[in-house]
Amino acid sequence: MEEQVAAALRQFAERLDGYDPAPGPPVASVRVGEQVVALRAPVVKALGEALRAYQDPRDRGACEHCGGPRLDDNFVCADCGRPSGVFGQLLAERAARYEPPAELA
Ligand SMILES: [Zn+2]
Repeated sequence: MEEQVAAALRQFAERLDGYDPAPGPPVASVRVGEQVVALRAPVVKALGEALRAYQDPRDRGACEHCGGPRLDDNFVCADCGRPSGVFGQLLAERAARYEPPAELA
């Protein structure tokens, strides 16, 4: 795991350093286990921007009832159990009306 993190940081830094013919001295270093990755100023700035811009695919916003951050694929809140948002409400209403076909009964 440590190698993966260090390699990702090193590849990110090398990729950005490639855009700058005179990238300047390292201004920070990140230690991951035994490995140290030196980061120059443009890389530190870009790393912060990249981390702030990251959106997890599981992030479906906050529950409109309790504010919890854990909505499932059907927009049902894992904290309060209620469907969140118009889409969640539509799914819940549709599920409530659903009647299985006669051949399954
Ligand atoms: Zn909730």
